[in-house]
Amino acid sequence: RSKNNGRAQYSFFEPEMDAAMRMRREIEGELREALHNGGLNMVYQPQSDRTGRIAGVEALLRWKHPERGDISPAMFVPIAEECGLISELGIYTLRESFIASRQWPGLKVAVNISAAQLRMRDFPEKVADLIKECAVDPRTFELEITEGLLLGDDPVTHGVLRELRQMGFSIALDDFGTGYSSLSYLQRYPIDKIKIDRSFVANLGIEKESAAVIQAIVKLARALKLDVIAEGVETIEQRDQLVEIGCEEIQGYFYSRPVEAARIGEMCSKQEEFIGRRA
Ligand code: C2E
Ligand code: MG
Ligand code: MG
Ligand code: MG
Repeated sequence: RSKNNGRAQYSFFEPEMDAAMRMRREIEGELREALHNGGLNMVYQPQSDRTGRIAGVEALLRWKHPERGDISPAMFVPIAEECGLISELGIYTLRESFIASRQWPGLKVAVNISAAQLRMRDFPEKVADLIKECAVDPRTFELEITEGLLLGDDPVTHGVLRELRQMGFSIALDDFGTGYSSLSYLQRYPIDKIKIDRSFVANLGIEKESAAVIQAIVKLARALKLDVIAEGVETIEQRDQLVEIGCEEIQGYFYSRPVEAARIGEMCSKQEEFIGRRA
């Protein structure tokens, strides 16, 4: 009935919620507020070809929380998925990436898409509107989807992916090798690229088997005519081994951490200068 009554009821239940639950509620509210008031931003990490030249960037979401500090998207994206914010968050990510891409003609821009968005039938239409609004070409973009249980065999997901690909987007399977049904996904999903999970890269030089697994993935990708990129490359030894194995693209701290959009432009022009001097 009255507002007061509602509040009293709430506080009656509150002691029964555990601390984690309360914290979660708080984070949900703060995330919504950050999304609406400029508290989120994107950073971009170079993806280099075998010669070290920047071929593209991956757009990564950041939340600088005023009290809690930097919160990882690995933590808040799942929260957004559960509290119904993912659609809006996903559009934010795409719009920012589309706009930023206009500064980097010739670079491919990879954007992470949540499996929850792929289950929404109207997603391709929303993306098409955004493409028009931002005046960009879908062929500039790669959509990264994480291989995992979430993807499943949902027919809507299949249809949405196919539509996006028809629009000109390329599709990359992220964190490849960590899911359960990797091989069957490869056959059933309309994809263009495999992204070797960083756990395999991290074990290069530590476990002999890691190189063997990466070799097998690269061979498989070739057989299926898929491109392949390795993520989480931190050392020159890892880079050299991956290039030797035949991995076409490399992403990781070895080349660069994720940086502000303006830095990407600087890195590209420095590189052109260097290549120009060599030629
Ligand atoms: P991901 O797509 O696999 O992104 C790669 C993660 O590895 C990023 O973490 C990146 O900062 C980190 N990384 C890059 N190079 C290295 C390296 O050399 N060593 C190590 N140890 N880590 C490296 P980040 O930015 O914290 O993102 C975590 C995950 O959150 C992403 O994994 C992706 O699944 C998700 N995510 C990030 N941005 C978005 C977004 O805009 N939308 C959605 N739906 N998910 C996002
Ligand atoms: Mg990714
Ligand atoms: Mg990944
Ligand atoms: Mg991931």
